[in-house]
Amino acid sequence: MKILTSGLTALALSVGVLSAPAIAQDKGTIGIAMPTKSSARWISDGESMVAEFEAAGYATDLQYAEDDIPNQLAQIENMVTKGVDVLVIAAIDGTTLSNVLENAHFAGIKTIAYDRLIRDSEYVDYYATFDNFKVGVQQATSLVNGLKERFGDGPYNVELFGGSPDDNNAYFFYNGAMSVLQPMIDAGDIKIVSGQMGMDTVGTLRWDGAVAQARMDNLLSAHYTDKQLHGALAPYDGLSIGILSSLKGVGYGSGDLAMPIVTGQDAELPSIKSIIAGEQYSTVFKDTRELAKVAVSMADALLQGGEPEINDTSTYDNGVKVVPSYLLEPVSVDVTNYEEIVIGSGYHSADDL
Ligand code: BGC
Repeated sequence: MKILTSGLTALALSVGVLSAPAIAQDKGTIGIAMPTKSSARWISDGESMVAEFEAAGYATDLQYAEDDIPNQLAQIENMVTKGVDVLVIAAIDGTTLSNVLENAHFAGIKTIAYDRLIRDSEYVDYYATFDNFKVGVQQATSLVNGLKERFGDGPYNVELFGGSPDDNNAYFFYNGAMSVLQPMIDAGDIKIVSGQMGMDTVGTLRWDGAVAQARMDNLLSAHYTDKQLHGALAPYDGLSIGILSSLKGVGYGSGDLAMPIVTGQDAELPSIKSIIAGEQYSTVFKDTRELAKVAVSMADALLQGGEPEINDTSTYDNGVKVVPSYLLEPVSVDVTNYEEIVIGSGYHSADDL
């Protein structure tokens, strides 16, 4: 009898396990539109969301658009036509989705802006992101700490790089950074030798590392043949790696020409390796696994008749409305804490490094 009971229990358990995904995924389908696979963070975002949505009982349609705006638009239109229940979108160009989101809205589909705000649409229901202004503050704070540590008292010669001008985040990163740097520039402690300032001048279209590298090449040959560069504000690891290549190309980081302080964002593997090697100075860790969880819980609440949890109702005005948001905390990472923050959290394994 005992054997029979335990046999039945095992059978019941195994039936439950086997049938779980089919039953679970009846809760609906989530369309997930990500910008590109060229940066590891978006791959991680997509994988985490698929895993979390499936665990919560949803089917997913995950698409990457390789930074091509019409491609992303077509992918989202297709999701709307297929009748997904919620859209989760990290936009390539945050200003180009107004029509498709209107169609989604009238088809009863809710939209969550993921990481990047979608602008110029009243049909963005919620926004899951990090405290993007704080990311910029952390980048600039780390830059200043590094300048003092490596070069003693100023003034310091610095160049500024911005993110993609069609990404709302880029302005938050830049403005956050300038809240720290502008007073030092005004006081003469930091000199932007090229004079190039402002997002319209220092922005890097599509966050392209090759574009940043080429701009650094030009800055070095135009302004630094008789001066030493001490630091570069870089808002994303892909740009940092390009900037560092340019610097190494003219001899920085060898002989007695110290490597300038170069910041970053996303804790991407090549950048963590570069930090360990003493080249890139810092990055900002944003745990994409946590962001995925926020998006999943927002979508789940929307579909199950609940209220998504938010913690910010004032910061993210998309030009039409202030989008209710949940902001996660970014963490500044350098050689002193990468083990604790990036390895300790399991984001990268020690073996990867
Ligand atoms: C994200 C950053 C990322 C950048 C480039 C931004 O919108 O917030 O984490 O570095 O895009 O992909």
